[in-house]
Amino acid sequence: MLNKKTIITLTILLIFPLILTACSNDTVEVKTAEDNAFLMDTLVQMRAHGENADAAVEESMKRIEEIENLMSKTIETSDIYQLNNNPNQIIEVSKQSLEVLKKAKNYAEITEGDFDPTIGALVELWGIGTKNASVPPENKIKAALANTGYQYLNLDDNYAKITKAGVKLDLGGIAKGYAAEEVKKIVEKNGVEHAFVNLGGNVLVIGDKVDGSSWKIGIQDPRAGRGDVMAIIDAVDLTIVTSGNYERYFEENGKLYHHIIDPKTGYPAENNLLSVSIISHNSFDADALSTAVYVMGLEKGMEFIENIDDVGVMFITKELDVYLSSGLEEIVNINDPDFNLIEGEYSVN
Ligand code: AMP
Ligand code: MG
Repeated sequence: MLNKKTIITLTILLIFPLILTACSNDTVEVKTAEDNAFLMDTLVQMRAHGENADAAVEESMKRIEEIENLMSKTIETSDIYQLNNNPNQIIEVSKQSLEVLKKAKNYAEITEGDFDPTIGALVELWGIGTKNASVPPENKIKAALANTGYQYLNLDDNYAKITKAGVKLDLGGIAKGYAAEEVKKIVEKNGVEHAFVNLGGNVLVIGDKVDGSSWKIGIQDPRAGRGDVMAIIDAVDLTIVTSGNYERYFEENGKLYHHIIDPKTGYPAENNLLSVSIISHNSFDADALSTAVYVMGLEKGMEFIENIDDVGVMFITKELDVYLSSGLEEIVNINDPDFNLIEGEYSVN
């Protein structure tokens, strides 16, 4: 299992070459600011170039911390903790939490429950990412499944309510994307034209690089335990959000159990995928989509994404086959010969 330190090391390995390329061709003196912090249960890295770069980075990091304080499952004063621990009671929540809950419920509806923000009881039961992770007994999975279902989440203009005791919200599949979009707003408000934020695999670039070329975003090799880059994506004003089985997992009797749960079975989604990366312009949506499409699997997920304008997807299977939605070949460059691009099998119709 990956511990916090390994995750940080891997992420730094992944991002540093990108940052170096980002600076190497600068011809004009532009102010640069950067910061790293462990927030929202992951390593957050940010860099900005421009007159107000310092303010943009400082404000962004503060905002991410605020979001964590509102949406964490474990911080007792958070909106989500209050909802989870006071079923059948109207809880007045912040407008930020309400915005995320509304988007999450909407994705639950349109994905017919493949994405489900009420996955908390199952996530807690499996304990993936904690030292108590183990395969739960069947009867406990059944009980947690009975406490899963977005129909038990009521939302109104300024309150939210859980309508069944035992149902628990978990915004781990969407809150980082919301945070990335909040960073974008702060960067724009500060007039900063070039910036980069990475919230543990949830990457957003704002503008192009200072020298006018595109950012190069590395896609991590999704084979468990590897930290290197298997593809580079040319990005300007783009978000790339990856959901993978290598991010949090444990092994028992030679089998890997990961953190993306199929709300219909109660088990980690089993569909021969190592990872799904959503490539688009809105990180909030992309985050929900990456998790949802991972649960859907290759065929259903590809069809789902092909029907959404302006959103692309890259799937990597356990055989290291790579499937891209239409149009992505131009910006995705696979640089590891172990991976094979499979072309033409999933064209749009
Ligand atoms: P991501 O890395 O964005 O795919 O999010 C994975 C996280 O979302 C997990 O660690 C859980 O906290 C939560 N999660 C797991 N399965 C689901 C699901 N089917 N729908 C929504 N959230 C989920
Ligand atoms: Mg997600």
